[in-house]
Amino acid sequence: MNFPIAARLSRVPPYPFEQIAKIKARKQQEGAELIDFGIGDPDLPTPDHVVEALREAATDPATHTYDESGNGLPEFRQAVADWYARRFGVKLDPETEIQHLVGSKEGIAHIFLAFVECGDCCLVPDPRYMVYSVGASFADGWFFPMPLRADNQFLPDLDAIPADVARNAKIMFINYPNNPTGAVASQEFFEKAVAFARERAILLCHDAAYSEVAFDGFRPQSILSVEGAKEVAVEFHSLSKTYNMTGWRLGFVVGNPHVLQALGKIKSNIDSGVFMAIQRAGVAALAGPQDCVDEMRATYQERRDRLVAGMKKMGWEATPPRATFYLWAGVPGGMKSAEFSELLLDKANVLTIPGSLYGQEGEGYVRFSLTVKGPKGVDLIAAGLENMERIVRPLI
Ligand SMILES: *Cc1c(COP(=O)(O)O)cnc(C)c1O
Repeated sequence: MNFPIAARLSRVPPYPFEQIAKIKARKQQEGAELIDFGIGDPDLPTPDHVVEALREAATDPATHTYDESGNGLPEFRQAVADWYARRFGVKLDPETEIQHLVGSKEGIAHIFLAFVECGDCCLVPDPRYMVYSVGASFADGWFFPMPLRADNQFLPDLDAIPADVARNAKIMFINYPNNPTGAVASQEFFEKAVAFARERAILLCHDAAYSEVAFDGFRPQSILSVEGAKEVAVEFHSLSKTYNMTGWRLGFVVGNPHVLQALGKIKSNIDSGVFMAIQRAGVAALAGPQDCVDEMRATYQERRDRLVAGMKKMGWEATPPRATFYLWAGVPGGMKSAEFSELLLDKANVLTIPGSLYGQEGEGYVRFSLTVKGPKGVDLIAAGLENMERIVRPLI
């Protein structure tokens, strides 16, 4: 049967990687060795002590039932509260200010259902992690893109949002360190965003999935460290990028208790929480030794430096990101993003993501993810650079 697809689903743009996927499949058929700077999914394994904690917890029948808490195991929430206090100096009540998630993406997508009515406006960055606008669409809302541009350090210009749009907005999403631009936010910007949201009664959602992926000693802060932030804000976190746990599906959201309670009600009617053995492993990750996090940072920092240096040598200037494992590079020679990405894939066996797939403002950029899969990341980056040189140099 050709059942008609619901409008909310048809409003979601078609899978954007189609053209790239086609070329990738053809290249692989031809036996080409692709160097994959595409999807941002850590190539390093989950630390041993976390895997060991899962192994142990999985053999305990007490973990085999539904987790009836709704917001997550008490020991997981306590581990989050302790981590927040240590890492950001922010105090959280584990009972009311922490909600575990089936990966942060799940919570990001579902929060719209709790606060957005048909026709409501949501403020989202452009370029962005697509779940923000898809979440708004699934809740039958619409989204207003806030441009992130180099001349404003890839921060949204809040004063440029039309007053009537801002007045009617229900949710604003921001994300720092930022995917895809690699930009970071200052405390001053966080203060401004909180004040903006408080004045207009907008639920401010901060996606901090990359808070631990930062370089050169830089440590991103929590938006909840801004005074009064908890009145309007929640912050999303994930174990995915910090501990190489993307497949495990474990994240959390913290902040305003009223907001968390509403999201919890949505979740209790849709999912029944994360496997308790995985939550226990999450405790091992957050409360255990953190040298694995230092190693993760050192790995990406070395790859970042290798890539930026190699590009510079061919005359292609790119700003090294202070955080995230993404390099957001301007397309040389005024080519379109998609055209350039296809060229790199076709002629250099290098897979990048065209910036235009992250929103209109991404046109003119490509995103390199430093999570290159293979035995040794830096060597792959060196090979990628060698392949690109021939193609890129004439364009500059
Ligand atoms: C990877 C990512 C996430 C989260 O991932 P989960 O695995 O669902 O926790 C959230 N936001 C951004 C911007 C990301 O890139």
